[in-house]
Amino acid sequence: MKTITVRAGKERSLQKRHPWVFEGSIAKGGADSGELVRVQSVDGAFLGWGAYSPKSAIRVRVWSFDEAERIDAAFFARRIARAIALRKRLVIDSDALRLVHGEADGLPGLVVDRYGDTLVAQFGAAGVERWKKTICEALLGATGLTRLYERSDASVRALEGLPEATGWLAGGGDTALTIREHQWRLSLDVAEGHKTGYYLDQRDNRKRFAEAVRHHGCRRVLNCFSYTGGFSVAALTGGASEVISVDSSAPALARANAHVELNGFEASRHQALDADVNATLRAMIHEGRRFDAIVLDPPKFAPTISHAERAARAYKDINRLGLQLLEPGGLLFTFSCSGGIAPDLFHKIVAGAGLDAGVDGAIIERVAAAPDHPQTICFPEGDYLKGLMILRA
Ligand code: SAH
Repeated sequence: MKTITVRAGKERSLQKRHPWVFEGSIAKGGADSGELVRVQSVDGAFLGWGAYSPKSAIRVRVWSFDEAERIDAAFFARRIARAIALRKRLVIDSDALRLVHGEADGLPGLVVDRYGDTLVAQFGAAGVERWKKTICEALLGATGLTRLYERSDASVRALEGLPEATGWLAGGGDTALTIREHQWRLSLDVAEGHKTGYYLDQRDNRKRFAEAVRHHGCRRVLNCFSYTGGFSVAALTGGASEVISVDSSAPALARANAHVELNGFEASRHQALDADVNATLRAMIHEGRRFDAIVLDPPKFAPTISHAERAARAYKDINRLGLQLLEPGGLLFTFSCSGGIAPDLFHKIVAGAGLDAGVDGAIIERVAAAPDHPQTICFPEGDYLKGLMILRA
């Protein structure tokens, strides 16, 4: 068994059950990619069992803080069973859900989504990569499913020194699927969509948006960074008469149009705009357009804290433009999915946007990711998605 010794003082975060050991915290020791290591303090005290990742800034991700626990097939079966048991206790109004959410489920780097009868997994760290076969068997065993598709093509793989890998790990057949979310039917392709195919984390916020659009009587709705139009279908459900989806992905917009019809709405109530959001917002202000509700759900502008400053400017820009485009009394539903932007910072950014736009607003709701994307109390990095629902003064 190889041993990793952390520098004096660096044992504290592990003692608080934070599962990462950064490169700079290590005094000595090394191992192969994904290899099991014993992490210890300078005086040799046990801190955790972890997976070593020789190329990543996150050099070790801890599997377990329990010295008596063995990291073997039974360990993975237990962790997966625990993750699935948690989902059974949650209110999830969909046949598509996140079954395993990485660190929060004690499986660092592993994401597993279920879309009906199909599992989609992303192996985002050296440890879960090494245990891939074992994890697959545990997933199929625990769910009783036979179809498992791999989408290990996220940029984090490069940070771990791992090549991209996609394709069926079990079963096969059509990668195009239809799911149910609340009362909606939505299509996706697990081989081609973003992430594992769909943004499941916004499930409950889409429903909240439908309710808010109805409650506030919003007619004209602008859905920015729409992807396949989840919030657009929600707006139509809420009674909007005119919905515009803006995204820079043509295939996503084609699906947004399809989703309007799939859910029984007149195609004429929806328009898909293949364009850059920032440029579109500016052009619309120039044209004197106004909306009753606007969604801003941009991609991760700040993947890590080091990008926070530049990202803050980008968030402020679109929020200022969005607030300017809103009719007085209009509704802004604005999000950040950047782990590097904490909720209080996001609030301050939106405050700055309001100042620059010369408009005030009331925060009527604060939202986060759906509960199948849990956070553990020891891992604040897990708090990535935050949203503010704002009524413009
Ligand atoms: N709201 C969506 C998820 C949005 S993900 C949902 O509910 O499913 C972010 C989206 O932003 C992606 O679809 C991506 O294609 C799009 N995007 C990224 N940069 C963009 C830009 N500059 N202009 C327009 N769309 C952009």
